[in-house]
Amino acid sequence: MASSSSLALELDIDAVVAGKARLSAAQAVRLYREAPLPDLGRWATAVAERIHGKNIRTYVIDRNINYTNVCSANCTFCAFKRDLGDAEAYTLTRDQLHAKVRELVAIGGTQILLQGGMHPELPIEFYETMLRDLRREFPGVHVHGFSPPEFVEFVAVFKLEGFPTTPAGESHTLPREVWLAKLEAIMRRLIDAGLASVPGGGGEIFAEAVRRRIGIGKASARQWLDVMSTAHRLGLFTSGTMMFGHIEGIADRIDHMARLREAQDLAIANNWPGRYVSFISWPFQRENTPLGRLREWEPAASGELFPGDVLADLILEGKTEQQALLDPRAALAGKRLRMAGAVDYLRSQAVSRLFLDNFHSIGSSWVTMGPKIGQLGLFYGASDMGSVMMEENVVSAAGTTYCLNEAVLCHLIRDAGFTPAQRDNRYNVLKLHEGVGSPDLRVKDWSEHRMKRLHVEKGEPPELAKHDEGGVHLTIEGE
Ligand code: SF4
Repeated sequence: MASSSSLALELDIDAVVAGKARLSAAQAVRLYREAPLPDLGRWATAVAERIHGKNIRTYVIDRNINYTNVCSANCTFCAFKRDLGDAEAYTLTRDQLHAKVRELVAIGGTQILLQGGMHPELPIEFYETMLRDLRREFPGVHVHGFSPPEFVEFVAVFKLEGFPTTPAGESHTLPREVWLAKLEAIMRRLIDAGLASVPGGGGEIFAEAVRRRIGIGKASARQWLDVMSTAHRLGLFTSGTMMFGHIEGIADRIDHMARLREAQDLAIANNWPGRYVSFISWPFQRENTPLGRLREWEPAASGELFPGDVLADLILEGKTEQQALLDPRAALAGKRLRMAGAVDYLRSQAVSRLFLDNFHSIGSSWVTMGPKIGQLGLFYGASDMGSVMMEENVVSAAGTTYCLNEAVLCHLIRDAGFTPAQRDNRYNVLKLHEGVGSPDLRVKDWSEHRMKRLHVEKGEPPELAKHDEGGVHLTIEGE
């Protein structure tokens, strides 16, 4: 680790914290690798306080509804998807969907995170009907729906007059201008039917050398970013995400953030009515996934340098992937895992707050790290504790995630020295919990509010999952 003061001087951290200078990608990599963790926390907190003030930290009550688990992609980190025709495949009926939203509304929820797999057969009319029905039945509920990989599949399979279709997963074969025009036409129709914003699922890691190895048949980085830029042009707000702690190098994480920052710059420069409003990152959960079966990197056995770092650094220096792979230190790139622990998670989140200077909010993803690390995240740049939700299927299918109710979430925020506030999708405060009527201050017996673990065994349908017991649960943004 570099001495804090010399690194701070060299990178002009005071100006970065004050919003008067911007970190380059190379500087951010240095910060990630060299800055002492407490300093990263102090600097990231100062940025969060500049943007959000010192007193209030937020959360949202929404419900993650996976309308289908049918998916044509084969991501190596996924334990949720099923093939069309599989005995465990499902698509929610209108009644099942509305029952879930009704339960959300009953507990004061304001938003649904509506996502599925990349279903290869449902037509656009299915989605339009779903959105229109939701708007008619629940006019006060914001639909945050369809992550970029779903839009990529929509472009492939929807039959739209004047546009070609392709087999599922092959929309990349369309000429780019046709692909973009069809994407826009689809998005306009879904907005017209009630889509209000787009979640950032499927971001993972943008770097091609990583993405190709972990996501099979999913959106390319360019497609993912194109979907979001189209949403911004059409006035939708979106979120950026990153799933890290697998085969990628540190430079890949920064490259990922850099592409998001650049895309946000584009939206701002063009004065598009939509923007990225938040960024949330979380560590890969390995259970029940093919990617999780890779061997873990052991520095003593595999060499001091993590092969993913070697590959990413060589590509950053200008080598092609093929050239970089000739370096023997990169030979095991993509074949060894480097799982992220608490320190790595906090380091990543703090750097994201310092680097993403054009993003409003950084979310703390305690769902995968546990509530205590999530709470600590409020001192490493996070200003938002994410979503109070009633179910989570995708990440919990791949490993341990956690579940807390609204009272506990408010308690965590207050215990960290902040006033908890429920927010909406645009980060407007809906309820500031100051008085004795606050969800946490009403609790007399905390034994009934103990943390639950969310965990779905492979193949277990969501209806039978142990976590959906009618309480209020939290999960991460994204898939
Ligand atoms: S992560 Fe999403 S896109 Fe990938 S296989 Fe799972 S459901 Fe499909």
